[in-house]
Amino acid sequence: MSTNTLDAVGAHDVVNPATAEVIGVVHLASAEETDAAVARARAAWPAWRDVAPADRARLLRRFADTVDAHIDELAALEVRNSGHPIGSATWEAGNVRDVLEYYAAAPERNFGKQIPVAGGIDVTFAEPLGVVGIIVPWNFPMPIAAWGFAPALAAGNTVVLKPAELTPLTALRLGELALEAGIPEDVFTVLPGAGKVAGERLLEHEDVAKIVFTGSTAVGQHVMEKCAATLKRVTLELGGKSANIVFADADLEKAAAAAPGGVFDNAGQDCCARSRILVQRSVYEKFLALLEPAVRGVRVGDPTSPDTEMGPLVSAAQRERVSGYVAEASVAFAGEAPDGPGFWFPPTVVLPASPADRIVTEEVFGPVVAVLPFDDEADAVRIANDTLYGLSGSIWTRDIGRALRVARGVEAGNLSINSNSSVRYSTPFGGFKRSGLGRELGPDALAAFTEVKNVFIATTED
Ligand code: NAD
Repeated sequence: MSTNTLDAVGAHDVVNPATAEVIGVVHLASAEETDAAVARARAAWPAWRDVAPADRARLLRRFADTVDAHIDELAALEVRNSGHPIGSATWEAGNVRDVLEYYAAAPERNFGKQIPVAGGIDVTFAEPLGVVGIIVPWNFPMPIAAWGFAPALAAGNTVVLKPAELTPLTALRLGELALEAGIPEDVFTVLPGAGKVAGERLLEHEDVAKIVFTGSTAVGQHVMEKCAATLKRVTLELGGKSANIVFADADLEKAAAAAPGGVFDNAGQDCCARSRILVQRSVYEKFLALLEPAVRGVRVGDPTSPDTEMGPLVSAAQRERVSGYVAEASVAFAGEAPDGPGFWFPPTVVLPASPADRIVTEEVFGPVVAVLPFDDEADAVRIANDTLYGLSGSIWTRDIGRALRVARGVEAGNLSINSNSSVRYSTPFGGFKRSGLGRELGPDALAAFTEVKNVFIATTED
């Protein structure tokens, strides 16, 4: 019998969010099966650590090539399992290839230092940690997994990856493709499981050296507490409530046309969603007038169609949650959404009565944006920072000095000026405040998967 409870073990239904149909059954690992996977990953570690850097690089390039040869298959699978539009899912599969390619260059560039000292030579080594546990949410199953496993493997660690209960299918396929590419058995294990069972066991296990967790802030706090018992290293990528700040001197047409993409991408189930638009009061009405056709024009529907810009929410529970927020708010206007089966919700713009409203302060994780006015630069920065989160944000202005002042003033890890784009595999990504701890991607990611070892070699004769 299959089940969908979040503390389950055994057979688990996987559902297509666009049709509400069961599309497969996946086995959720028990605590004992998780222990066994960690034991195999631990046993595989010494040999993987000792693979010569150029050979490890070559294997990662082959893994990237194998993913590249299966982009269409992976994208189609993600459309079925997550409801992402095919264009987005194709980008996501391509991102896995790109991240693998980028970190394939790392094993041969994992440099230490030579530090001048008296009486000898001092050198540092960047040593791998051992087994890395990666716990992934359901919103971007492929990229978020790769941001962890590619640098972890490049640094010489073995990996046990636990996908989210709702969206395990592409991760499982990536595990098969790794083997096909020649990554040795047990170096990269994909272990579907419930958070409260397999996830919890990874947090506790003595032989897991590090946890990379992406998910909600509440669970992230629990992860950090739990990891303290064994002093595991942690990287946490958590929630967001990012601000899209539009000044009166901005190219308003461009800012308004881009705003839906900045929040409704992946139906708003994006930690970087600019779910608060702050507009300078003098152009507030004008901006809303420009925003309305842009929101009504978002093409919501069949995720398999190349024209679709927004698909369904991931589950009935997520639709309930989003509806609850919108029921409390004053809706200015909304776009379209299909009727019938599937977990659909239209792109929605709300005008909050107060900055303390739940819809302004909490992460909705759905296609809902709150628009708020501000008076001047200081007011914009104050409102943008009036949140527990600090993941991303945008600043729209033609004044470059102001753009940089505001970018330096906003407490967030990833800001864009005259753009809503947050993520590039070659630049660091992560949050301030309760949006997380540590950084992924970019040139320094290997530091999060290695320990610095200092070695002194005496050169004096006595
Ligand atoms: P979630 O926290 O419920 O679950 C995330 C993962 O943690 C899942 O794999 C789940 O099984 C596991 N988990 C749950 N309880 C656990 C436990 N007790 N021990 C170990 N593992 C456990 O989050 P979600 O609902 O899947 O994802 C949505 C959240 O993820 C949002 O808050 C979003 O902002 C955040 N997110 C952040 C980023 C980022 O990079 N900052 C990216 C994507 C999503």
